[in-house]
Amino acid sequence: MDVETTKEKQIIANLYKYKNVKITPDMEYKFIAQAPKSLTERPIVVGTGPCGLFAGLILAQMGFKPIIIERGKNVKDRSLDTFNFWKKGEFNPNSNVQFGEGGAGTFSDGKLNTQIKDPNHYGRKVLQELVKSGAPDEILYICKPHVGTFRLVKVVENIRNQIISLGGEIRFESKVIDILINENKIDSVILENGEIIKSCHVIFAIGHSARDTFRMLFDRGVCMEAKPFSVGFRIEHSQELIDKGRLGKFAKDERLGAADYKLVHHCSNGRSVYSFCMCPGGRVVAATSENGCVVTNGMSQYTRDEQNANSAIVVGVEPKDYSDGVLGGMEFQEELEKNAYVLGGSDYSAPAQLVGDFLTGKTSGGQGSVRPSYQPGVKFTDLSGAMPEYIITAIREALPQFDKQIKGFAMNDAVLTGVETRTSSPVRIVRNDDYQSVNIEGLYPGGEGAGYAGGIISAAIDGIKIAESVALSILKNPQ
Ligand SMILES: Cc1cc2nc3c(=O)[nH]c(=O)nc-3n(C[C@H](O)[C@H](O)[C@H](O)COP(=O)(O)OP(=O)(O)OC[C@H]3O[C@@H](n4cnc5c(N)ncnc54)[C@H](O)[C@@H]3O)c2cc1C
Repeated sequence: MDVETTKEKQIIANLYKYKNVKITPDMEYKFIAQAPKSLTERPIVVGTGPCGLFAGLILAQMGFKPIIIERGKNVKDRSLDTFNFWKKGEFNPNSNVQFGEGGAGTFSDGKLNTQIKDPNHYGRKVLQELVKSGAPDEILYICKPHVGTFRLVKVVENIRNQIISLGGEIRFESKVIDILINENKIDSVILENGEIIKSCHVIFAIGHSARDTFRMLFDRGVCMEAKPFSVGFRIEHSQELIDKGRLGKFAKDERLGAADYKLVHHCSNGRSVYSFCMCPGGRVVAATSENGCVVTNGMSQYTRDEQNANSAIVVGVEPKDYSDGVLGGMEFQEELEKNAYVLGGSDYSAPAQLVGDFLTGKTSGGQGSVRPSYQPGVKFTDLSGAMPEYIITAIREALPQFDKQIKGFAMNDAVLTGVETRTSSPVRIVRNDDYQSVNIEGLYPGGEGAGYAGGIISAAIDGIKIAESVALSILKNPQ
């Protein structure tokens, strides 16, 4: 129920008289199970991104006392490591934008819209829990809600505290490096420190960047397949230009906030170019999780009041575009990221180019009116060697088309920074209708890394569904 009045029943009865009025369905979340007190088996959740965190939260709320394992640090310490990398270029491969409590979306714009079908209104449960943990109430009713980075950090801490208060356990700086399988059923996980934790129910919510874990699961014979994703560059303009292009004479109206955009162009070479993860009034961030790689992404604070607007301008790639094999897409991403590291000067600076130079094929010598926000810094160069030729051709065709929709989009001084490779997972860990791996019973692949989500809300919803499936399975055969 979204609205309550003193004459609630009477008002609702009156509304039913009108054919075109639909009463809001009951969106209250109802727990599917409750753990018996005698239960000794504890489900394991690997990863504390939105998928793992919500799987853990729902299991804990149902009384299943999950053990949650996270390779990175708690969100406060992780934030220090991440800012240290951005400011000083000191990189920690287990504590960064991708890895650590809160998962990949912690340093983000915190956009909370999703396009997935959600007939059971699980998204509502996610939003309610976020509000309970410190997100602003408005996310429950505005059209395109967002939380911003600093608030997300607090929200994540509060969800963790709730899980612990319900009997769950969270272990940071604990990486799962192997699994034990017995007669096609999962038996235990092995941590990097050698500890073995037993459970017949293990949720893998590892995100799209856990390449070592993908390799391990593949080596252990877990059924996986290559899947399409997208690659390209981040583009930056002044937010003022985007506001003018999108809002015209209302551009300065504070009530409208910083404008966003969504663009797509179908190219003559058969490729589609589109804008992705647009961050109004935000910054481009260094988002690698591996040594010797450069990866871009974007984030904003809740206020969205920084000078620049950014988005990824990406082109879809499919398994046929890169080398054969299930892990071919992951290797393709890795190759692009290593190449970008070298192009940027091998010190975690990102390679960058002015849009005008990119379009005419000229090496850029320095910035113009748009100041690149990427830290630890950018090196102006020629980006045409940073991506396969069909991608460069497609982006060169698309930018002038986007300029027709937002005047100035292809302006000379706009900045392209490379490379954007982690748009979604390069693999799918195949699962059945019970959310379990098709060939390893008790292994539940979930969220973005397993190929079943594409954002904070969809990953969290997937986590809820998996938690329910795990709970029902444990209750069938309680130990
Ligand atoms: C900079 C940035 C900005 C983004 N902005 C938005 C946005 O505004 N809105 C939006 O909807 N989406 C955004 N996204 C995407 C969103 O963050 C992801 O879709 C979402 O986080 C996926 O959730 P997940 O739980 O599946 O995986 P993740 O969030 O990636 O979490 C996986 C977790 O598993 C841990 N892990 C991995 N391997 C192991 C292991 N072997 N052992 C133990 N732990 C392990 C990792 O450390 C990580 O914490 C953004 C992503 C980034 C990087």
